[in-house]
Amino acid sequence: MIKEEPNQTYELPKVIDYKNVLYYSHHAKKVKGTVRNKAKKFVDLGLIQYDKDLKCFFCNPIPGYNKSRYKIEKVDSDFECDCQFNVTTGYMCSHILAVFLYLKIKNWKNDR
Ligand SMILES: [Zn+2]
Repeated sequence: MIKEEPNQTYELPKVIDYKNVLYYSHHAKKVKGTVRNKAKKFVDLGLIQYDKDLKCFFCNPIPGYNKSRYKIEKVDSDFECDCQFNVTTGYMCSHILAVFLYLKIKNWKNDR
């Protein structure tokens, strides 16, 4: 009987030690300061897309930069993204921020 799922790299470790803290701080450092720029880029390139059937947003990959497509869903009053950064840290990632920017831009256009 299989009790455990295969390696879950998306889960925050129960204990942060010298082995995995490097990964997390490295990742945080890599992301710091770039979240807004990345979010703006997603919007500027028209990569944010609303799926009417699934009632969620998708953030398509930046061509030549990454290959993952992320799903952003509204859960209660919050948005959740299935990317590693959001799932592991719970902090707002560039994809969620991109959806916010996208909605504001869209609303702003509708208001005119
Ligand atoms: Zn994300």
